[in-house]
Amino acid sequence: MIAKRLGIVGLGLIGGSLALSLRGKRGGPEVWGCDRSGESVRLALAAGAIARACTVAEIAACDIVVVCVPVIRSIGLIRRIGKRMRPGSVLTDVGSVKTEIVKAGQESMASGAEFVGGHPIAGTENSGYAAAGPSLFRGKTSIVTPAGGNSEPALRRVEAMWRRTGARPLRMDPETHDHVFAYVSHLPHVVAYALVHSVATLDSRVPLGYSAGGFRDFTRIASSNPEMWKEIVLQNRAEVLRATAHYRKNFAQLERLIRRGDGQGLLAYFRRSKRTRDRL
Ligand code: NAP
Repeated sequence: MIAKRLGIVGLGLIGGSLALSLRGKRGGPEVWGCDRSGESVRLALAAGAIARACTVAEIAACDIVVVCVPVIRSIGLIRRIGKRMRPGSVLTDVGSVKTEIVKAGQESMASGAEFVGGHPIAGTENSGYAAAGPSLFRGKTSIVTPAGGNSEPALRRVEAMWRRTGARPLRMDPETHDHVFAYVSHLPHVVAYALVHSVATLDSRVPLGYSAGGFRDFTRIASSNPEMWKEIVLQNRAEVLRATAHYRKNFAQLERLIRRGDGQGLLAYFRRSKRTRDRL
């Protein structure tokens, strides 16, 4: 059994989906939940996603607690809950940036309790409990970030929780996580925001109603929650700036090929990109 009682703080898209994906599983934990929004708690209780609504102070009585709030609030909550956790219990999270959160978590735990960082690679551009669903994590990867004094049993319990949701756990240290996700997640989001911004700030009017599949496919993630992305980008600022600098170099190379009318060069550039994308 991964836990007798599992607590979820923040019943939004990720926390709500975690609760829904654990609901009704045989031998599963009793799930407690808390959220700032009374409406999310009411909906989660009504759907049977959580068995009990509780406060942040009460949630430390659970064997596993998962912090599912925006990254900027995660550190404060982890410090508050961590010092109250019982020996043998595990505090984990789902934040999209890991180095700072894991450092704070490892520094703030009560004696005998452990913090294990996590990040499920699943989501949508929508937020809140209303967007949550029981199959959000099915078939997806969920990163677990071993660090410092993590014991093998604590890591295995967090991995077992993600397996129960249908996700496949994968271990990665927090610094590697932040480097990798700067390129495969944070860079695409900032580029999508910049692309839509470029159209929004044009002097001439470009009616978006004419936009073809390319614009829509490419910019879907620019509909993601701006508050959340502001926080992610700032918390991973150094890695994101390295990624945007690398991107600018590649973009400038593309501009030079276009300016020179270098058909062979463009073909080689596009072919290399296509080969990489086709491997996904
Ligand atoms: P969300 O849908 O906005 O849900 C966050 C929930 O936490 C909201 O219900 C929010 O309530 C609540 N909350 C905020 N502060 C709280 C506090 N102090 N105590 C209790 N509840 C609090 O956000 P999300 O998309 O689930 O993201 C949550 C975390 O998952 C973030 O750290 C994010 O980096 C990570 N993540 C997101 C995705 C994604 O695609 N969305 C994917 C992977 C990981 P209010 O609405 O009242 O503020």
